[in-house]
Amino acid sequence: MTAQTAAAEIRRAVRVGVTITSLIGAAAAFYSFNDALFVVRRAGTTGGLAYIPPLFADGLIALCSAALYAHSRASRRRPAWPSAGVIIGIAVTVVMNVAAGLAHSWADALIDALAPVVFLIALEVLVGQFRLTRPGPAADRPRQCPHGVPSSFEEAVRLDYEHRRDCLGERPSNVQHGQRWGVDRRRVPELVGAALNGDGPHG
Ligand SMILES: [Zn+2]
Repeated sequence: MTAQTAAAEIRRAVRVGVTITSLIGAAAAFYSFNDALFVVRRAGTTGGLAYIPPLFADGLIALCSAALYAHSRASRRRPAWPSAGVIIGIAVTVVMNVAAGLAHSWADALIDALAPVVFLIALEVLVGQFRLTRPGPAADRPRQCPHGVPSSFEEAVRLDYEHRRDCLGERPSNVQHGQRWGVDRRRVPELVGAALNGDGPHG
């Protein structure tokens, strides 16, 4: 698999991840909103006021998820406040959902607790996927070539040899390298110096 097709497949996986996480988020928000509304009404708040507390939790989760997404896209380090906000919002939602479910049964409480937990896991998986789309550390990328522009013929012969050996993975012989630069093969070890260590005079 080439690097391009690998990158394209990662991007496709991220798109699928964004879609699924959004759907889970929308479903969990709808579910949790109704549960929280039920709890708030049971606690005695009625009318339009009852809609405000459920919006706090869902709003906090939505805001912090968007911030985590943005930081992840920008390849920034994971921000502290949005990370904490998502956890707190999910915890509040789980408690409200469990409280609403308990009005029916323990089983219902457990099922209701599942929605925000599933969303949290989906969000974490997605943020992890974004890390794959960043330029990776040294292992994923060719190391930068340290062989600069030579300032003399002798240096050019040496740098070319070192570049072929260290950056291109070639093993040029004295004869090949001598021919390339138009120097006698017996002069090559002297010109490339320590670079030929261990290769012997005949290469
Ligand atoms: Zn190089």
